[in-house]
Amino acid sequence: MKCVSCHINLVSEDKFTKFPCPSCMEEEVVRCIKCRRRNSEYACTKCGFKGP
Ligand SMILES: [Zn+2]
Ligand SMILES: [Zn+2]
Repeated sequence: MKCVSCHINLVSEDKFTKFPCPSCMEEEVVRCIKCRRRNSEYACTKCGFKGP
């Protein structure tokens, strides 16, 4: 599993957040805690939706 913002490899489960894409609701967006705190931009790999 990889952070969609910084593409870091996520190994430990408590260091990232996972939520369904608000646009298509089909793809799960995975972001590490660091990017979540920084409000880094993410893009859905399925529909291309970009959001903070
Ligand atoms: Zn990240
Ligand atoms: Zn999507």
